Amino acid sequence: MNDTGDEAQLLDMIERWTERELKPIVREYDHADRYPDHIVEQMKELGLFGATVSTEYGGLGLPASTYAKIVMTISSVWMSITGIFNSHLMLALAIEKFGTPEQKKQWLPKIASGEIRGGLALTEPDAGTDLQGIRMTARRDGDDYVINGTKMWITNGAEGSCFAMLVKTNPEANPRHSGLSLFITPKKEGFTVGRKLKKLGYKAIDTAELVFENYRVPKDNLIGGIEGQGFYQTTGGLELGRINVAARGVGIAEGALRLATQYAQVRKTFGKPICEHQAIQLKLGEMATRARAARLLTLDAAASFDRGERCDMEAGMAKYFASEAALENSIEGMRIHGAYGYSQEYDIERLYRDAPLTCIGEGTNEMQRIIISKNWIKRNPVA
Ligand SMILES: Cc1cc2nc3c(=O)[nH]c(=O)nc-3n(C[C@H](O)[C@H](O)[C@H](O)COP(=O)(O)OP(=O)(O)OC[C@H]3O[C@@H](n4cnc5c(N)ncnc54)[C@H](O)[C@@H]3O)c2cc1C
Repeated sequence: MNDTGDEAQLLDMIERWTERELKPIVREYDHADRYPDHIVEQMKELGLFGATVSTEYGGLGLPASTYAKIVMTISSVWMSITGIFNSHLMLALAIEKFGTPEQKKQWLPKIASGEIRGGLALTEPDAGTDLQGIRMTARRDGDDYVINGTKMWITNGAEGSCFAMLVKTNPEANPRHSGLSLFITPKKEGFTVGRKLKKLGYKAIDTAELVFENYRVPKDNLIGGIEGQGFYQTTGGLELGRINVAARGVGIAEGALRLATQYAQVRKTFGKPICEHQAIQLKLGEMATRARAARLLTLDAAASFDRGERCDMEAGMAKYFASEAALENSIEGMRIHGAYGYSQEYDIERLYRDAPLTCIGEGTNEMQRIIISKNWIKRNPVA
């Protein structure tokens, strides 16, 4: 998409869909932790499962900046459901960026249409930040690999049908990352969903434990066809992944601001709307500034990504700042609501439960600050 008119039209459509289809049901589905099947069907029709996939494979081929704006709009009302296509698009990215021509032809059209849905499975019970410490193995056996092990915290794990799976093809490798490989693993015999995990927030979408017992996959499913590339392939998708999470943070920060702004104008104490009390004005002023700064940082990172530049630092800054903005705005929004903020009959409590996830996913915010700092120092050497 090159034309800003096209982008405006698309964003307008997403905004109207969010208002019409998501707003009326979000509270009910969130509290019931119910998977929104009919919304998934609508998201297929909107093309969201192929949003960032190239048009030659049936996707919309959107630049990161347009995609981020879509995620911001939806997340300002219902962050969880963006995970249904966000994580899925990480699977698509791994195949499109690093797959063989045959893999792209075989998998991407069905992924872009949403016929196949899935995600990216890296984390294990004993390895999250330290990905090189994963224990899942893939052993070569003739023309197949045999996979054994357990993945944890996998978004779309129960509802999805295919995942990009990080495994060890050489557990003895030194350095450890050179023993990692990424496979396309569709659900079939040997691949079971251990359990659906119960969470504080991020409801309605499934997060699951995945268990592999003598799961057989053809060697053709090794992404890129060469062993030992998994770590590089996984981290190669992280810039876009972090921009995605930053966009979710922006959505929550803006959503909390919107709810608080509305409430502060109708709730009265001491004979006037609370927005006329200076203490509330200070909060709204800070919230509005944080939300705007988060949006601009995220769009700046997305623009850098779209220009084809290396943007670990920009994506890290956006992810770190926007997710912290989501957390702070949701709690400040809750304070502005007084006791009603604590009620399940208002929306702000959901934003407060959803926000912390954005500080954890795609690299914790502790790691983001370390990445930002390392890049910063690299770019500013002593002469
Ligand atoms: C709802 C949800 C959905 C998820 N979806 C997915 C998914 O789809 N796919 C997937 O693969 N994963 C997924 N995850 C997992 C997520 O990516 C990990 O939780 C995250 O990477 C952190 O790993 P960990 O939980 O093992 O924490 P740990 O790595 O054990 O970290 C614990 C704490 O130590 C800190 N820490 C660790 N190492 C360092 C260091 N070197 N320096 C400073 N601080 C450090 C961390 O910042 C954190 O504060 C999901 C998680 C959640 C909660």
